Amino acid sequence: MDTAIESLGVARIPSPLKHVQHVTDDECILYDSSARNVEQQIREGQTPVSFMKAGPRDFMYFDPSKLKCAVVTAGGLCPGLNNVIRAIVLTLYYSYGVRNVLGIRYGFQGLVPQYGHPILELTPKSVGDIAELGGTVLGSSRGPQSVEDMVDALERMNVGILFAIGGDGTMRAVSKICEGIRNRNAKISVIGIPKTIDNDISYMSRSFGFNTAVTVAAEVITAAHVEATGSPNGIGLVKLMGRRAGFIASYAALAKRDANFVLIPESDFDLEGPHGFLAVLEKRILDRKHAVIVVAEGAGQQYAHGEGTDESGNPRLGDIGIFLKEAIDEYFKGKGIELNLKYIDPSYTIRSVEATSDDAIFCTFLAQNAVHAGMAGKTNMVVGNWRDEYVYIPVDLVITGRKQVELDGKLWSSVLEATGQPSFKP
Ligand code: ATP
Ligand code: MG
Repeated sequence: MDTAIESLGVARIPSPLKHVQHVTDDECILYDSSARNVEQQIREGQTPVSFMKAGPRDFMYFDPSKLKCAVVTAGGLCPGLNNVIRAIVLTLYYSYGVRNVLGIRYGFQGLVPQYGHPILELTPKSVGDIAELGGTVLGSSRGPQSVEDMVDALERMNVGILFAIGGDGTMRAVSKICEGIRNRNAKISVIGIPKTIDNDISYMSRSFGFNTAVTVAAEVITAAHVEATGSPNGIGLVKLMGRRAGFIASYAALAKRDANFVLIPESDFDLEGPHGFLAVLEKRILDRKHAVIVVAEGAGQQYAHGEGTDESGNPRLGDIGIFLKEAIDEYFKGKGIELNLKYIDPSYTIRSVEATSDDAIFCTFLAQNAVHAGMAGKTNMVVGNWRDEYVYIPVDLVITGRKQVELDGKLWSSVLEATGQPSFKP
């Protein structure tokens, strides 16, 4: 695994940052936290894999008085986007003395002249109170853009550092833009700040927005429980985010022990049959008169049947929430059992709420460390968080795969323990 960080050149300008510990490029955070594994690797003559530690460097590559930076947000909304934008601007301005920061409107469209989106000027004043707002003040978009056009725009505007906040697609764009920049031998740094509300980015212990999503999702589970217990044979069915990974559903269910069933994309389930989900739900309703079901949007896709792809090429998922609601209604009607099912889909509400304090603090640290990296001339990388340490990771590494809930791991076994649900398999 290559964890080396690309650099634009030697950093020679002394950093203005005083009263804060500086970090050198040879300070690393081990990938593997097991002492036994690390010792074994050393005994076998291997160098244990590690990530470069994030933080301010002694020297800068860019001269802050001449530097122009740009910030772009792309992909779906996620709590904390504005916190990251704000902290990037404040750190550039107050810590480094950078006076020119541009806000690129509506994702990468903002770098392509034909769209005609105006550029925003970002100052401490203009970003002063954006952290209380959900969404992104820059706007966002999907869909491919020409890399040549984007690099042209960066050169034309004389941008030295581009900060790109977004999901897997955005990180792919960072990689492609860096390739375009390298081909032209231009001196532009591109730093990614990965965004995934689902917490499914590889090599990142935590991503911003996830804490907020779990906090709000847990409240929704409580609401579903109130609804379920409020009427005879009540069912509260909650659909949560999680296209390929069920982290939000799993953590929210652990936060509130009211969920009786948690369905996630990683764990297939049978709907019909004596051990299938509907039969187990029937037993629960007859025994306890109420049930709370939490389903992640990517679960049960063999039943929900999504079709085609969106503008970004992501498969369109079938709506498992609506599918389950109808399947449950029909099943109980067939059995002659009266049911009171309440379906709650809070996904868009969760995406656009203000970040929790915990996420807001996390966003600030990510943004500060992104700025330190850019100022030092690092590029083609993302700022990440590995085992509670802030680190720099090559962008090509984080786009190689995705994290999922391990079905034999401690998270899923805790969920099974908390819900008492069986495997829904013969
Ligand atoms: P999310 O997954 O949360 O929705 P995302 O960043 O994956 O966020 P996308 O719409 O996939 O969202 O990508 C954002 C933008 O990144 C796209 O609008 C596109 O301009 C750019 N992009 C995506 N993939 C590539 C690629 N392979 N090469 C160049 N640009 C890309
Ligand atoms: Mg994506």
